[in-house]
Amino acid sequence: MYCETDEELLELVERARKYTDQGKVASYIPALERADQNDLSLALYYTDDKCIKAGDVEKKFTLQSVSKVLALALAIMDRGENEVFQKVGMEPTGDPFNSIAKLETQIPAKPLNPMINAGALVVTSMISGTSIHEKLGRLLALVHDMTNNSSIDIDLEVAKSEFETAHLNRSLCYFMKQHGIVEGDVEELIELYTKQCAIQVTCYDLARIGMILANKGTDPKTKRKILPERIATIVKTFMVTCGMYNASGEFAIQVGIPSKSGVSGAILGLVPPSLGIGIYGPALNEKGNSIGGVKLLEMLSQRYDLSIF
Ligand code: GLN
Repeated sequence: MYCETDEELLELVERARKYTDQGKVASYIPALERADQNDLSLALYYTDDKCIKAGDVEKKFTLQSVSKVLALALAIMDRGENEVFQKVGMEPTGDPFNSIAKLETQIPAKPLNPMINAGALVVTSMISGTSIHEKLGRLLALVHDMTNNSSIDIDLEVAKSEFETAHLNRSLCYFMKQHGIVEGDVEELIELYTKQCAIQVTCYDLARIGMILANKGTDPKTKRKILPERIATIVKTFMVTCGMYNASGEFAIQVGIPSKSGVSGAILGLVPPSLGIGIYGPALNEKGNSIGGVKLLEMLSQRYDLSIF
């Protein structure tokens, strides 16, 4: 199961890169459209601190929906499991990540899970702090701890671009505010959420986050418990059931690696107990997952027998 060299990975990256022409870079957030269609990078980070990587590994990208995993971990640390899951469910949905449909048919209008936008917006509204700055600072501190990289910050251009165009996310918030699920100022929530989504990383930052989750929330280097084990378990389970949007079931069968994707083309993956995976490939397939990234995960899973099932 242990991949040893950058060269081994590079061969897989170059094979998967061939598929990037068939995907499409996200454009509904205008700033994301600047990405290079054929970029593809991969990093594997092991608990023994070894990191191997291949492809366009210095490229930075924003977390987008991958941030939902981290915001959920922080909100549960802040509010406790009971309070968080009173406002957001634990069930997968067959709908796209930004769908509003189930909110109206479910009574109460509680989003089905924290990995769809409606659920993630509720979760972000539960992060503790007296200002957007403080809440964001606390989320960034968690990211710094998990990546061991305190230089990670927000891509303000991407955040602004999404803030100016997030009409659908605003409507999800107003709908949920009407039904008492979201409290407080919606504009402030959208500002915090779009900044959370615009946290800028590389594929090895992402792989180290995966490694910490694979290692049950503890940093193997410092032995520090960054997340309680129970919270690591909860977020990993959501990655399996809902992490790849409405492709999560098929992905679990074909790949079997707990993963969370974002529209930037990011994919965070992990294989307990010792491996974290970080991928960036901005060309997306029809479900909104990185097309090269999904191919790479399929290949990795087959070659190194990584399915958890
Ligand atoms: N910021 C994006 C949005 O809310 C995140 C979505 C995603 O990565 N799927 O639309």
